[in-house]
Amino acid sequence: MQHLPKSLGFRMPAEASPLGFRQSPNRVLLEVDRITRRFHPSEPPAVDRVSFDLGEGELLALLGPSGCGKTTTLRMIGGLEVPDSGAVRLRGRDITQLPTERRGIGIVFQDYALFPHLNVLENVRFGLRGMGRAAADARAREMLALVGLEALALRKPHALSGGQQQRVALARTLAVSPPVVLLDEPFSNLDAAMRVETRQEVRSLLKRTGSAAILVTHDQEEALALADRIAVMEKGRVLQIASPDEIYRNPATGFVAAFIGRSNLLPGTASGMAAETSFGRLPLSRAANGSVMLAVRPEQVMIEPDPGGPAAVVGREFRGHDQLYWVQEGDQCLLVISGPGSTDGVPVEIGTRVRLRICDCVTPVN
Ligand code: ADP
Ligand code: MG
Repeated sequence: MQHLPKSLGFRMPAEASPLGFRQSPNRVLLEVDRITRRFHPSEPPAVDRVSFDLGEGELLALLGPSGCGKTTTLRMIGGLEVPDSGAVRLRGRDITQLPTERRGIGIVFQDYALFPHLNVLENVRFGLRGMGRAAADARAREMLALVGLEALALRKPHALSGGQQQRVALARTLAVSPPVVLLDEPFSNLDAAMRVETRQEVRSLLKRTGSAAILVTHDQEEALALADRIAVMEKGRVLQIASPDEIYRNPATGFVAAFIGRSNLLPGTASGMAAETSFGRLPLSRAANGSVMLAVRPEQVMIEPDPGGPAAVVGREFRGHDQLYWVQEGDQCLLVISGPGSTDGVPVEIGTRVRLRICDCVTPVN
């Protein structure tokens, strides 16, 4: 790891806001400062003043629906696309105009981009041409050991599974010890089971090598499982940046609440740290005033069978360890997740009259 200039420390990002844009807990390594890219003059920018920072060794997920500008953001950081405005700085140095190969940023492409005519060892050694042959060989073998592929060193890429190809691509990128690695939808070519296994391997590999990484995904479960922090994007903008836990518990907007996990949205009238709703007075996770929408997680709603209850179960889905219910109360239909203990382990049948209670804080969103 290179020596860091003293001036780089716990700096506030350019656009600090109470709803996120929180800086990394680690020392700042990469700063993305209001980068913007517009492809068509008549359309809104694909990426619109996106700002965040990345700490040493941190794993940040850029999460959002297809077309929201994730890949374009990543390409501007990697030097494959030049922003119309804004800057990218690595350890305080402006790299916005530098070509990819002079940035010291590693990129793992979605299709892995392995050389088909080279074997695994030769692929990993490819980026190490500047080293002496013996040193490059030793480093490549070390990387293969790290990703658990020593035994396959002489295989060609076509004779590897998708997960193994992914690890070769990662080993090739990490071999040159880049301070930052960019991964665009790295698990999209793997089947569901492989994806879950591979993502934990990739996380632990990045943590062991100490490389920071930005991972693009449209899969909220992947982002929650992998990342130290998540930046949620919609229509070219970053809506919130925070830890997975905070994003889940304290979503900044209705879009974030609905995109990360499932959420009920209830109208209410807030004053300070509480709001009046059709379910009574509820505590809020952050202060608000006036007419608000409240995000209520399905697991925050308790369901109690009650023949005189104001609500009725209108739908049910068995999920093994818990139950999912759709419950109608007045003109509202709420999603409820009920754990095994909450109704004495007895599933509530469709049509049953029930009473709903909301426990825990709920989150005002706009
Ligand atoms: P994501 O990776 O989140 O799916 P992208 O960054 O690929 O989104 O694309 C964001 C928007 O920019 C989309 O509307 C896409 O069509 C547009 N776009 C991306 N690249 C180009 C390009 N080279 N030329 C024109 N439009 C582009
Ligand atoms: Mg993309």
